[in-house]
Amino acid sequence: MQIEIATLFPEMCEAVLSESILGRARAAGAITVHCHNIRDYTLDKHRRVDDKPFGGGMGMVMQAEPIYRCWQAVCEQLGTRPHTVYLSPQGTPFTQQRAAELAAMPCLFLLCGHYEGVDQRVLDRIVDEEISIGDYVLTGGELPALVLTDAVARMCSGVLPAAIAFEEESLYDGLLEYPQYTRPEIWEGEAVPEVLLSGHHLKIAQWHRAESLRVTREKRPDLYAAWQQSADAPEE
Ligand code: SAM
Repeated sequence: MQIEIATLFPEMCEAVLSESILGRARAAGAITVHCHNIRDYTLDKHRRVDDKPFGGGMGMVMQAEPIYRCWQAVCEQLGTRPHTVYLSPQGTPFTQQRAAELAAMPCLFLLCGHYEGVDQRVLDRIVDEEISIGDYVLTGGELPALVLTDAVARMCSGVLPAAIAFEEESLYDGLLEYPQYTRPEIWEGEAVPEVLLSGHHLKIAQWHRAESLRVTREKRPDLYAAWQQSADAPEE
């Protein structure tokens, strides 16, 4: 999996992408992530990449040309046209299922907007889909691109120790995960559920499943109702 991030703030992205699990996965070659500075592709002698919106209005708009030139350069380097995503509050809400679908693609190009957004003409030319990370507006697309990269990368082989690591987690099968506990066995008078200390694998698996259903029902009744309609739910 290769992810190409086009941004005005590559250092901001690199700071996150070089740490922890993603940093190690990149160093080991399990995923490839490059950050491209859109400003490197402007033809303006003052390295400007934005201008006032036609028709008036607040703020600045990112110009089409530097973004298009950046995208073309990446296409040339790759020798193919990557699946191109514009991170936008107007996009389709991001989900675990979409993360899994994107993880199966060979290459993604993630465009981070800033200021008031991006000239519509370049979006119309290069973008395959717009993705939102939630119904709120952020100052830029960098954090959304990093959220997407993290969610996608951890489903790529070699990033987590084993596929089981994400397959057992919240949302993978439409349910939330059961509660987790670690040492000590008793903390501030509160004991760990006894079954988890039993070493009885079947009973532990049954407890995990029952707790997963309880937590989903209590915290996300919408997810629980959807799960009940799904093929995974046992027949009544
Ligand atoms: N004027 C735009 C609008 O009303 O749709 C919002 C622009 S926002 C201030 C600047 C950039 O942040 C956007 O171009 C987009 O890349 C990114 N962004 C902001 N909120 C986002 C969200 N919820 N999901 C994904 N990207 C977001």
